[in-house]
Amino acid sequence: MKKCALFLAVLLLSLSLTGCTASTEQTMSFSAMDTVITVKLYGMDFESANTAFSECRNILTELEALWSATIPNSDFCRINEAAAGEILLDFRTIALLRLASEVQTETDGAFDISLAAVSALWKRCETENRLPAAEELTELLSHSGNGTWELSDRGIVKTDPSLCLDAGGIGKGAAADALLAYLKTTSATGGMISFGSNVVCFGQKTNGSAFRIAVKDPKDPGSYAGIVTLSADTSLSVSGDYERYVEIDGTRYHHILDPMTGYSCNSGLSSVAILCESGALADALSTACMVLGYDAAMELQHSQTYRFEAIFLFSDGSVRITDGLRECWSATGSDLS
Ligand code: ADP
Ligand code: MG
Repeated sequence: MKKCALFLAVLLLSLSLTGCTASTEQTMSFSAMDTVITVKLYGMDFESANTAFSECRNILTELEALWSATIPNSDFCRINEAAAGEILLDFRTIALLRLASEVQTETDGAFDISLAAVSALWKRCETENRLPAAEELTELLSHSGNGTWELSDRGIVKTDPSLCLDAGGIGKGAAADALLAYLKTTSATGGMISFGSNVVCFGQKTNGSAFRIAVKDPKDPGSYAGIVTLSADTSLSVSGDYERYVEIDGTRYHHILDPMTGYSCNSGLSSVAILCESGALADALSTACMVLGYDAAMELQHSQTYRFEAIFLFSDGSVRITDGLRECWSATGSDLS
């Protein structure tokens, strides 16, 4: 898969920041989970911040060792390599899969953590410069979705031996939650965690100004469609059709798949930003809403199954937001209806 920009995995550039001195704002960036992660801390001295940064790295290393499907012996690797039956898992993986399963149900299958083999087929087809055959997709899809796995108290029960899972649509948000929980136990008076496409803030900036996050313009990822003011403890996740993709015969096929067809989803949306209380949920819902499209995503919001707000960036360049964002979104250069 190609990435348009390594640093900003989907679209965010954090708008900083005036008047912070080096002693009250400490920033660190590092790579993990196939993205660049930036942690910014306020109200902490250099040494304490460095201790906090190393603990953040440790947490991410542990989670990656559980959730990466390419690290030998990770929970996801063991799931994907196992035959049918029960596989014992770390409690953090069970929690991740529980939420994934719930969102899969609530989105009528639009969110589906079991598309790893389909994603892998697209990557292979890119190297072979050919489109996947319909029969190949149908065959792989028959080993994904409902009825192929369930959770037990201790792990997962794989009912289809060919099942392959992929945490790509939910793992970064869940990792941001883990960092947030840890950082709130430190002496930092505020901070921001960014995984590029997943951002969360806590406490306050030293200068008291709001946390403002720019959401990339899918038509021109070098600029932004608008700015959202993010309340503390609210997570933002953005999924888009322009950042990660395979290119076959000159055409781009982006990385968010419609679980019904195995092709890149094509719901009329180029990008969706979700704001809610949990990073993992925001991550899963932003992926799901790309597949669902505007009408079904709004139905989900109105059903109040989950409390979330959303910014929808349509393929035609228009932008729509949910009512709860009227006060915290300002559009730049796009029509706001
Ligand atoms: P990003 O990882 O770029 O922030 P997303 O959170 O939207 O983007 O997740 C996309 C990733 O999730 C894909 O790269 C793939 O690993 C996985 N995925 C693709 N389609 C789906 C889907 N319908 N449901 C759940 N996960 C998906
Ligand atoms: Mg996601």
